[in-house]
Amino acid sequence: MNPTSIATVSLSGDLPEKLQAIAAAGFDAVEVFENDFLTFDGGPREVGRMVADLGMTISAFQPFRDFEGMPEPLRARGFARAERKFAIMNELGAELMLICSNVSPQALGGVDRAAADLHELGDLAARFGVRVGYEALAWGRHVNDYRDAWEIVRRADHERIGVILDSFHTLARQSPLGPIASIPGDRIFLVQLADAPKLDMDVLSWSRHFRCFPGQGDLPVADFMRAVAQTGYTGPLSHEIFNDQFRAGSARRLATDGMRSLIALADQAKPHLPPRAQVLGVEFIEFALDEDTAAELSGLLSALGFRQTGAHVSKSVARWSQGGINLLLNTETDGFAQSHAIMHGPGVCAIALRVDDVGRTMARADGLKIPRFEQPVGPGELQIPAIRGVGGSLIYFTQPAGDLGHIWEKDFVPVRQASPTAALLQSVDHISQSMDYEEMLSWLLFYSALFQLDRIPQLAIADPGGLVESRPLVSASGSLRFVLNGSQATRTLSSRFVSEHFGSGVQHIAFDAPDIFAAVKAMRAAGLSFLDIPENYYEDLEARHGLEPAMIDALREHHILYDRDGEAEFLQVYTHVFAQRFFFEIVERRSGYAGFGAVNAPIRLAAQAREARPVTMPRSLRER
Ligand code: MG
Ligand code: MG
Repeated sequence: MNPTSIATVSLSGDLPEKLQAIAAAGFDAVEVFENDFLTFDGGPREVGRMVADLGMTISAFQPFRDFEGMPEPLRARGFARAERKFAIMNELGAELMLICSNVSPQALGGVDRAAADLHELGDLAARFGVRVGYEALAWGRHVNDYRDAWEIVRRADHERIGVILDSFHTLARQSPLGPIASIPGDRIFLVQLADAPKLDMDVLSWSRHFRCFPGQGDLPVADFMRAVAQTGYTGPLSHEIFNDQFRAGSARRLATDGMRSLIALADQAKPHLPPRAQVLGVEFIEFALDEDTAAELSGLLSALGFRQTGAHVSKSVARWSQGGINLLLNTETDGFAQSHAIMHGPGVCAIALRVDDVGRTMARADGLKIPRFEQPVGPGELQIPAIRGVGGSLIYFTQPAGDLGHIWEKDFVPVRQASPTAALLQSVDHISQSMDYEEMLSWLLFYSALFQLDRIPQLAIADPGGLVESRPLVSASGSLRFVLNGSQATRTLSSRFVSEHFGSGVQHIAFDAPDIFAAVKAMRAAGLSFLDIPENYYEDLEARHGLEPAMIDALREHHILYDRDGEAEFLQVYTHVFAQRFFFEIVERRSGYAGFGAVNAPIRLAAQAREARPVTMPRSLRER
């Protein structure tokens, strides 16, 4: 892999904080952004020493603006400015200066004029022992395409002058990637990487505020990388990200994300890690609880049609099952689940995913620098491989083959058989996780780099307290669906979930019902009630979809929300919020409905806001 680098502008914090975070994440080099240098209270030698002491080099000093093609006296002034910067670079220990294409209205066009200026600058650079890389800005006045920048560099014909390629400027303008391959690798002095979400806005604002790490946006950065690989370029791959969210986030987390993004991108361009894991299904979801909430949750699960089917051989962990769903209620008084419950309150502390191959999944996680988690197990019990997931929760892995395909036989004793009547619920349809808005891109990258999951475009959902951004990640077979929710508004349910429960985590779990009406009926007979939906919703539904009155009546009667996409239909119903912490959803997908009923989310959120109070189970249910 090429040396790894990141521009200081990509992270939050002051220069020493940024450099420490970058070094801790394992980068080889750093692009020193001039503004980070200017605002630092120390000389260039001190900065150079800090970088060297952290075991890194400086991949570039940048940016140098509005240089080429200037009329006099601006031209002479440009050379004087460059000379001062070269002197600073000598003290910094920086060997490459980045020049971006001129945006000044006074700039004169002409490839030969620009080439002549750069050639002369090359002579000046030689006196200082430095090099200059020329980059086309997508909004450059005369040069806004890498092909023109390369033509100018080619004509400048100076060993100190090379071209800098930037994935954002190239892909934002949809420049063809083919011609990159014809640039000799040693004439490329630096490759900068950035992705961005598809947004319909002017390129300058898009670039300055919405760039993100490759793997977090929608641009074909891997195609760009494959073209770069054909040149034989061996220099640094350097993230250059301008993003308002990043500037508000933690420098350490961002630097780690940046490294993970580079590793995943290099792997996409030229595979060196085991492939992304295929998720076959959700093996179990584990709740960390105290005795009282465990009793209450058992009551709720009974009403939902679950039965306790097993008990852990050595720990205080109960297995509840129905259809292909397994839920674990962990009431251990020490160990991971207990500390999770103390930190976060009652809730989901772990998710186990059944993957095609656990060994390869863990090897890929290691390659992506995702921390492993291990805890002591009793004699004869399985050590189920695990990594750290959202909010400090765990993701365990099982697989069909070998011991890890027999966790229930090995680690659990059967309590009694699951109810012989047909299961009301069949499988986990989706798992919804709430997090700080700044964290969403981190987890998006985490999940999509590790698993074969496709991203569905982000949706903004109206909560009574503000907007919630919702981002689904789904496997092609539907075996796993995550929905990530983040909100910047502090009064939304999603952000209150995060702030009141000390961090991110699972906010709701949706189960798939073969017949949602039958399921709701049986659950109500067992004493369960569902989230109240206003009458207005059903009147609007009738007008919108022209459903039969009998169908509308049935939906209303069962508190079920409805959506349709062509012939495909989606029915969904919600439990009340449990312990002010999480809730369950029951869904029925008909004719391949692929979404999540986003159109109904504001109705659900408003209903929950009205009910924002704990709902305890009646004692009669607890005793079941
Ligand atoms: Mg750039
Ligand atoms: Mg849902």
